Amino acid sequence: MNNPALLNSLWRSTAGEVLENTALNEDQVVDVVIIGGGFTGVTAALELAEKGASVTLLEADDIGYGGSGRNVGLVNAGLWMEPEKIEKILGKTAGKKINTMLAAGPEQVFSNIARFGIDCELTRTGTLHCAHSARGLANLKDRLRQYLARGLKAELLSREETAAKTGTSIYRGAIWHQDVGTIQPLAYVRGLARAAVSAGASVYQNSPVVSIERKGSRWRVRTPTNTVEANGILLATNAYHRGLLVGNATPQYTPVYFFQAATQPLSAETLERILPERQGCWNTATIMTSLRRDEAGRLIIGAVGNIEGASSGIHYQWAKHRLRQMFPYLEAVEFDHTWHGRIAFSADHLPHMVKFGPNALSIFGYSGRGIGPGSVFGKAAAEYLLGGNEEVLPIEPSTVYRESLTTAKSRYYELGATVIHGLTQLV
Ligand SMILES: Cc1cc2nc3c(=O)[nH]c(=O)nc-3n(C[C@H](O)[C@H](O)[C@H](O)COP(=O)(O)OP(=O)(O)OC[C@H]3O[C@@H](n4cnc5c(N)ncnc54)[C@H](O)[C@@H]3O)c2cc1C
Repeated sequence: MNNPALLNSLWRSTAGEVLENTALNEDQVVDVVIIGGGFTGVTAALELAEKGASVTLLEADDIGYGGSGRNVGLVNAGLWMEPEKIEKILGKTAGKKINTMLAAGPEQVFSNIARFGIDCELTRTGTLHCAHSARGLANLKDRLRQYLARGLKAELLSREETAAKTGTSIYRGAIWHQDVGTIQPLAYVRGLARAAVSAGASVYQNSPVVSIERKGSRWRVRTPTNTVEANGILLATNAYHRGLLVGNATPQYTPVYFFQAATQPLSAETLERILPERQGCWNTATIMTSLRRDEAGRLIIGAVGNIEGASSGIHYQWAKHRLRQMFPYLEAVEFDHTWHGRIAFSADHLPHMVKFGPNALSIFGYSGRGIGPGSVFGKAAAEYLLGGNEEVLPIEPSTVYRESLTTAKSRYYELGATVIHGLTQLV
């Protein structure tokens, strides 16, 4: 791993669990081969191994190198988009199916953490979706109605209640999602990979797949040194797909960068005021801000922005400015850790599955909500690859899926974030 934007990641410096870093060094024939070691691939590997299948997972870098090891760690139910919008896009029956399956995502994650003793800074005090404007508050009220109608546990907090939970008075209210929580995401995915190995999966790191082909009735994938042949194949490379030409299976998405900056551990006195119950937060702004604490008492702020790009200075200064605005009583803000990741946004903000051949699935486009969804999709993909039943999948797979203008859209998001972050510092 030699990526400057990741070397300073808080999650990399505090993830206790380290996996043995073995690259594929023999040819293999297995039931299923998985490409990509994030939530989707690792969950699928665990599920397959627990069901008695032989499975090999190949990760180009190390487990959690992609979005799974870089994210905010908010374990929420469902997608980012409101359930009614999902039902409108997919139709009532299909929409209801994905909404119901994804509502169970957090429980799947929490149960894995308990079952495998994964030490990943789990909090179960919920998450807060905070209203940054009157329009944001109206949207939250409508969302709450939809969540309650679907049996999710949530309530609307007043401005004062939100201030008491967050330590800042800038928000007009918030939805408090109560059955959810936060994790240290890299520690979680590493722990899950360890559990998959214990269950019998073969997990190889530093093993980039360079080609996939159909050979007789099997799939054959190659790394620079070896091959794996398998009856089933799962491509779970998402926004970090690289070095592999796979036609229709290629993940289609707009890459949107999201960065995070972590302070030094705050004083005990300050921690009594800022997120005292340790909920993880995000807000209703289009250029969204996230806020959470880690176990050591660091405050972590996040927002859309590429910190390796031309605007890195603007984003960095914005993060400091924003914390001072939100918490005027905070001591001088210095960041010990800054890092970013690439979110795979799809045009309709829904995840997509492409069936690119017999027993072959590619999954991508969680659009910023991938901990629960990646877990649900990974488990369902494993079941599908074993039994061939499409009904177990949260959405119907297509055979071809294309997105256009993704580079232009990505630039537009980055430009928007730069302008907003620059302007915010003028007030
Ligand atoms: C900054 C950020 C914040 C986020 N915050 C949240 C959040 O708070 N809550 C939430 O639910 N979701 C969040 N998300 C979304 C979530 O992290 C992703 O949706 C999720 O991690 C995707 O998991 P994945 O397994 O599909 O892909 P990834 O975790 O990206 O894994 C793909 C893997 O494939 C590997 N790979 C690529 N090409 C090859 C190849 N040729 N051979 C072998 N391996 C290969 C990559 O190295 C990578 O490790 C966030 C995302 C980002 C980037």
